[in-house]
Amino acid sequence: MSDLTALTAVELQAALAAGETSSVEVTRAHLDRIAAEDGALGAFLHVTADAALARAAEVDASGTAGTGLAGIPVALKDVFVTEGVPTTSGSRILEGWRPPYSATVASRLADAGTVLLGKTNMDEFAMGSSTENSAYAVTRNPWDHDRIPGGSSGGSSAAVAGRLAPLALGTDTGGSIRQPAAVTGLVGHKPTYGSVSRYGLIAFSSSLDQAGPMARTVLDAALLHEAIGGHDPRDSTSIDAPVPTVVEAARRGAGGDLSGLRVGVVRELGGEGAREGYEQGVLDRFAEGVALLEAAGAQVREVSCPSFGLALPAYYLIAPSEASSNLARFEGMRFGIRVGDDGSHDVDEVMALTREQGFGPEVKRRIILGTYALSAGYYEAYYGQAQKVRTLISRDFSAAYDDVDVLVSPTSPTVAWPIGARVEDPLAMYAADLCTLPASLAGVPAISVPCGLSDGLPVGLQVMAPALADDRCYRVAAAVEAALGAPLTDRLLERAA
Ligand code: GLN
Repeated sequence: MSDLTALTAVELQAALAAGETSSVEVTRAHLDRIAAEDGALGAFLHVTADAALARAAEVDASGTAGTGLAGIPVALKDVFVTEGVPTTSGSRILEGWRPPYSATVASRLADAGTVLLGKTNMDEFAMGSSTENSAYAVTRNPWDHDRIPGGSSGGSSAAVAGRLAPLALGTDTGGSIRQPAAVTGLVGHKPTYGSVSRYGLIAFSSSLDQAGPMARTVLDAALLHEAIGGHDPRDSTSIDAPVPTVVEAARRGAGGDLSGLRVGVVRELGGEGAREGYEQGVLDRFAEGVALLEAAGAQVREVSCPSFGLALPAYYLIAPSEASSNLARFEGMRFGIRVGDDGSHDVDEVMALTREQGFGPEVKRRIILGTYALSAGYYEAYYGQAQKVRTLISRDFSAAYDDVDVLVSPTSPTVAWPIGARVEDPLAMYAADLCTLPASLAGVPAISVPCGLSDGLPVGLQVMAPALADDRCYRVAAAVEAALGAPLTDRLLERAA
């Protein structure tokens, strides 16, 4: 067959089922592309080439290739623990660690017959929006190698947009699936909090962390979502409810008919009077995306969510607070590196030296910030206030959903910026999360779907829905995708041809 890395997961599924190719061929094609391109792209921290080919051969021999996702390669963000396969969460402190077990989502993908290609680069402990906080590598945006691929799931976005993998998993705490998807022209979905297992996901901020799919099309993302979703007794916040029927919703949305659907454009996210920090090209593509929804029959109106403007300060108190607690387990005794264990230091010194050398600057900043926000005397003023804001944001969502079925906004206020442009300015980095944070704090599902290019760089449109109505996100995203005619990443293929 022609270039197998140009096919979507759905196309690969059909080719496998028809016996036109094999999982070994598909896997080899992607491994070859990784070997050729990843030196420049930096998407992978670890490639499991031999295991992938062996696994693919097993799937071929079982005769199941092409059933569901069986035989299709996937890449996993390095935040998911994988038994026997190095897992670092982008941090030096976990260098060399091989976990003794696998995350539930990794096991579910393995059980579905997918083939693990490797682990993708990320901002250290998922803290960042550009993947530049990785302790290991710079990852480049396939649309422009001088620009960031977004973050923190930037290795996954670069891998899928660059056709090194047809599918990848990311995690999203404050936007880390949606923003990298937006700036690389992909579809990325943050599921309803609690609907995809967090077991084996190295914790950043436990009340916000969610795993989710990244893909080149809405239907591909939906297939991946259904393969990982659903209740897991090993995650204490897992919801015991059926997985929303997102594949069916994606198929339905692709029909392009949104008659009767009520869409709210969030005034506070790039609407009238809240445009500071937004690039004009992003606002233009977003407005065109909204016009497409209207043309598909949706009833569009502007909706005000006054508390959304407070999401950024609230998130940057809550997430660091939880991180300061979660990261206490990395002390050099149980996982990864240990520094100063030469007999001349006591145990407290070894822990301090390990953390000093093992954590990067952004992680230290968050631990210090979070520890301060939780300290006696300041707890109410910072963490307590932020939790109140979180409640206000949830109430804004509830009120909005009385009148509309979904809310829309740009995903990111800007397109991918040049590598290095924001590394010295944490607040500029945090500003990338302006549009994604409200859905994170409220725990509601949100998808990013490409809605065109600005100066040759991808722009994403975000669709938010009520908790457990993930299917609405997919339906609306599929309608946008259908109206635009072809997956945005096809432009990269045309450029390469
Ligand atoms: N950019 C945000 C942060 O740095 C979100 C990261 C994420 O979703 N993991 O915290």
